Formats: sequence, C-alpha cells, structure tokens
Amino acid sequence: MFKANENYLKLPGNYLFSTIASRIEAYGKANPDKAASIVRLGIGDVTQPLAPSIVKALHEAVDEMADAATFRGYAPDLGYDFLRETIARCDFEARGAEIHPDEVFVSDGAKSDSANIQEIFSDDARIAVCDPVYPVYVDSNVMAGRTGTYDEATGLWSDVTYMPCTSDNGFIADPPSTDADISLIYLCFPNNPTGAVISRPRLQAWVDYANEHGAVIVYDAAYEAYITDPELPHSIYECDGARSCAIEIRSFSKNAGFTGTRLGYTVVPRDLKDENGVALRDLWARRHGTKFNGAPYIVQRAGEAVYSEAGQRETREQIRYYMDNAHVILDGLTAAGFQVFGGVNAPYIWLKVPDGMSSWEFFDMLLERVQVVGTPGSGFGPSGEGYFRLTAFGSRESALEAVRRIKSL
Ligand SMILES: *Cc1c(COP(=O)(O)O)cnc(C)c1O
Repeated sequence: MFKANENYLKLPGNYLFSTIASRIEAYGKANPDKAASIVRLGIGDVTQPLAPSIVKALHEAVDEMADAATFRGYAPDLGYDFLRETIARCDFEARGAEIHPDEVFVSDGAKSDSANIQEIFSDDARIAVCDPVYPVYVDSNVMAGRTGTYDEATGLWSDVTYMPCTSDNGFIADPPSTDADISLIYLCFPNNPTGAVISRPRLQAWVDYANEHGAVIVYDAAYEAYITDPELPHSIYECDGARSCAIEIRSFSKNAGFTGTRLGYTVVPRDLKDENGVALRDLWARRHGTKFNGAPYIVQRAGEAVYSEAGQRETREQIRYYMDNAHVILDGLTAAGFQVFGGVNAPYIWLKVPDGMSSWEFFDMLLERVQVVGTPGSGFGPSGEGYFRLTAFGSRESALEAVRRIKSL
C-alpha cells in the first residue's frame, strides 16, 4: 500500500483565516441585523482595479495572440528578455544596485518563489525566521522535512531558529552575536504582518553576518513600493556584498494589483556560491526549466507596462490611496489611545491590544461590540500574541468607519 508524504502530515492546520471566517459567520447568524455592517480590515488583498496603462498592455497583448503573425507559444522558462531587462534597469540599476537581466527569474508570483526557493538548498540546511512571520517560509520547509518536530504548546518547530520581533526590538531582529549554524535566513521588509521597515545599516549588518558565516538571506521585498522614507533601502542589493549572500523575491501583486493576474520574480546573483563553488543561480535556472513553463506572455507585457511612465504614475496613485487609508487608521487609533506600529512605509498597521487581553479576545471584542474585523497577531506566530493586524487595502470609507467605531468604544 502506498504512503503519502509524511512531512505534509506534520503541518499543523493553518486555521487562521478559516477560524476568522467561521467566527464572522457565527456572529452574522446570531446578529442578522448587524451582519451587513461589518467592516473588514483583515484582508491582505488589494481592492483597486488594474491601472489603465496595464489594462491597455493586456488588451494589446491579447490582440497579438489572436494573430498568427504575432502569436506566442511557450514563453522562455526564465522570462522574456523585454521584462528581465526592464526589471534589471528600473528596480536595481536605477538604485545603484548591480543586477543583470540573466540574474532575474520571472515567475507567477512571490508566494510560489518563496515556497520553492528552499529546494536548491541541502536537506540539512537550518532555517531562521522572524516571529511573527508570513507562514509560507516555514510551511514550505516543513513539507521538505527540514524543520524537526512541532511543539503544540509553544507553536514552534524544533529545528527552526526563531527570531522574536516585538516592540522591545522595534520588530526587527538583529543577526545572532555568535555563529548560529544557520544556512537560510528569511527576511521580509517592509514587513507583513508588523509593517516594520529596516534601515540600511541594520540590513548591512545582516549581509555582513551572512557573508561571514556562509549563510544565505532570502529577502522578500513584496512591499518595497510602499516605502516613503527616502533613506530606506528598497533592495538588499543596495548593501555592499549582498551579491554573494542574498536572493531577493519581488511581486507585482501589491505594487500594481496583480494578485489575480499573477506575476513576480526572483533575483539570484551569479556571485552566490556554496562551499563547493556551486552557483545557486544555475540551480534555480535548472529548477525553472524543469518545473515551470514561464509566466504568460500577456501578463509579462502587463508587467512591463508597470514600469512605463504612465504605469508608474498610476500605480503610485493607487499606493498613495492605500497609504492614505493607513494614515487614517494610524492617526485614529493613536488618538483613541492605542499603541500602534507600522503603517508609514507599509500597508499594515500592527496594534498592541489592551493589557490583559489576548489577540483572539480582542478580535471577538471588536467584532461583537463594533463589527470591525482584523487579524489576530498570534496567527502569525507566538510572538504575535498581544498584537492585532489591520490592513490599508480596503476603501477610504471602510477605514474611516472602522476608526469611528473603534474610537466609540
Ligand atoms: C502578498 C505577499 C507576497 C506576494 O505574493 P504573490 O504570490 O506574488 O501574490 C509575498 N510575500 C509576502 C510577505 C506577502 O505578504
């Protein structure tokens, strides 16, 4: 009799969003008069439609596909040159970072890349993650059998190094002071869920640590477009020495609304080599060639349009709209006496729940008393307990209404 992959059976159920949905449903059934007025600030999905110049590029690409003379079949595994060259020039060269088009790997998004990247490391590679964290980094390593055993009581894996991120360290972990025997370090800035950002010197310290100790940093920069402070780095390759220790993952989801359209990319520099001189870039290219058949031509043309003058203007306008929501929430909650973090260079507001309450108790209280929904911080890891995530991705009306209601408490 066959056996399923036992590593999958080790995964604890990710009940966060299904638990939220069922609590909202139960509340709605018990209070039908109030169900319609629930304000949702829990969503991690964008709400603004694709910008006009992106839609135009999509239409034009569809027309090309309808004509035998311009029809395209399989896309190149690693991405079309027109997009890889545009990315290298606009996202890296323009910021003084040396990245070549052949180090850019176009994909269907950052979630799959951040889950798949662990495949090119050895089975015994030890990973380090921030706590709280985007769950994909850990779960993909669980599936690969790299994380040891799960402790139900603590919510931690035996073979994973956790770096707690709380208000004590400004939600940013520093590198270990000794050799922690870590191979793979996952960092995400601006951060989901805390909204924290990292300064150039502190990111440089991570790059120096990785180079010194032979570790690799997987840098998830899905939210770089939300950075408003000109001093903050948008890419890890703005740090000296990052070409020999860092992989960067980007997405078109949050900067251009591609959550349903699907496009992202990963950068693996040629200088990134293991102890035997094996270039990770070549392994990632091999993986793409075997397991991925390229992002759609139509979508890659839409991605190219994001970098056009009109595309930049329009997408920046959308980001400004979301960030104005963030300011509304941040200012409103501060005025209401809450301790709030994030929301300045990130679309996430990370709220300290009142003393003596758990994240889930605060969730229930907001739902029952003012019909506002957010995400309990404990759902992102044990160090998220006592915090609550609100997002700026909704409408202005919902941000204003949520603040008005929370203030009324
Ligand atoms: C939303 C998000 C992504 C983007 O995922 P896509 O698959 O490109 O839509 C990546 N990382 C983090 C931390 C995110 O929140």
